[in-house]
Amino acid sequence: MTKQWLTFTEQIKAHYKQDFVPLHEPTFSEKELEYVTDCVKTGWVSSVGAYVTRFEEELAKFVGVKRAIAVMNGTAALHIALKVAGVKPNDEVLMPSLTFIATANAVSYIQAIPHFVDVSEITLGIDSEKLEQYLLEIGDFKGNELLNKKTNRVIRAVVPMHTFGHAVEIDALQKVCEKFNLILIEDAAESLGSYYKGKHTGSFGKVSAVSFNGNKIITTGGGGAVLTDDEELADYAKHITTTAKIPHRWQYEHDEIGYNYRMPNINAAIGCAQLEKVSQFVNQKRQLTHFYEGLLQDLDGVRLFKEPKHSTSNYWLQTLILDELYTRDEVLALLNDNGVMSRPIWTPMHYLKPYENCPKADMLITERFNNKIINIPSTPVNEG
Ligand SMILES: *Cc1c(COP(=O)(O)O)cnc(C)c1O
Repeated sequence: MTKQWLTFTEQIKAHYKQDFVPLHEPTFSEKELEYVTDCVKTGWVSSVGAYVTRFEEELAKFVGVKRAIAVMNGTAALHIALKVAGVKPNDEVLMPSLTFIATANAVSYIQAIPHFVDVSEITLGIDSEKLEQYLLEIGDFKGNELLNKKTNRVIRAVVPMHTFGHAVEIDALQKVCEKFNLILIEDAAESLGSYYKGKHTGSFGKVSAVSFNGNKIITTGGGGAVLTDDEELADYAKHITTTAKIPHRWQYEHDEIGYNYRMPNINAAIGCAQLEKVSQFVNQKRQLTHFYEGLLQDLDGVRLFKEPKHSTSNYWLQTLILDELYTRDEVLALLNDNGVMSRPIWTPMHYLKPYENCPKADMLITERFNNKIINIPSTPVNEG
């Protein structure tokens, strides 16, 4: 095993022209500096400013939704998306167990309960057929609300996540949502620049969330956004992310418990510069996939995860799927020991202490797959 893998690490380091290749680094140029300098010079660094509005407008346009509300991180965006979409305390919210913990945490913040379901090995996102079967089994309509027969709680919403930038079968999920009267909320944190049948991810749900954390395809330092086509929900999201203050020239009137979640202008300035380059980053990442594909022809027992049929993916994180030849941790040790930073996929939510007692479906694919998935360096490479 070792020799082939060592060659693999050498080829990656040569490609990046680095002795140590990080998993994912932000790519900045003069534009970010220019916009940030503008903020500092004008004094508009904080919670209000022209870059926030500009970033929101350009983001909404890029995704193809009516409105975007910029907030301080993707988790906050998910929290607000769930709240304005109508998830209430004690509701159950269906989501993949194979996700980053933020998806489950955001549900917990509104005293709702994550309910974990299995993924498809084609998309690594929620398996809609399996979900439908499962809901037929455990669900029971009371009026127009779907009750979980086992817990007697209302199942309110589904939160699919587009894993590593690969779109889930979202139109099949939409049908399941219609059939069972569930709200669709997308966790599109990883999928800016990814499309399903030509339509941008994050534009299918009633409300969606994206992230601009330092390791995402574009970054604002830390940041996120709530996306929606519903003007009323958008206004409400803006209102509660800005302390629910009623606009007034001097008076402090707040009409409910709000959040101080807004994105500072200085972060939005970075976001404006980054957004100008998102298509370039996507192209570079798709090139990187070709590069890795070439390398993998010489490696047995491993394959590159490729975009599913209807997805045009941003390939945010490049993904290896190992077969029985290796254990995940021996490959991780070899790569990390030889200057190629690599990470396993997240520990499934139903294994984690805060979520081990949550309701869940059978996890056949999640359990078969999670210890075979590795992410390898994915920073866009500047050719030339
Ligand atoms: C990054 C990410 C988030 C949000 O992360 P923040 O770090 O809060 O911006 C949410 N869900 C998934 C799946 C993510 O990858």
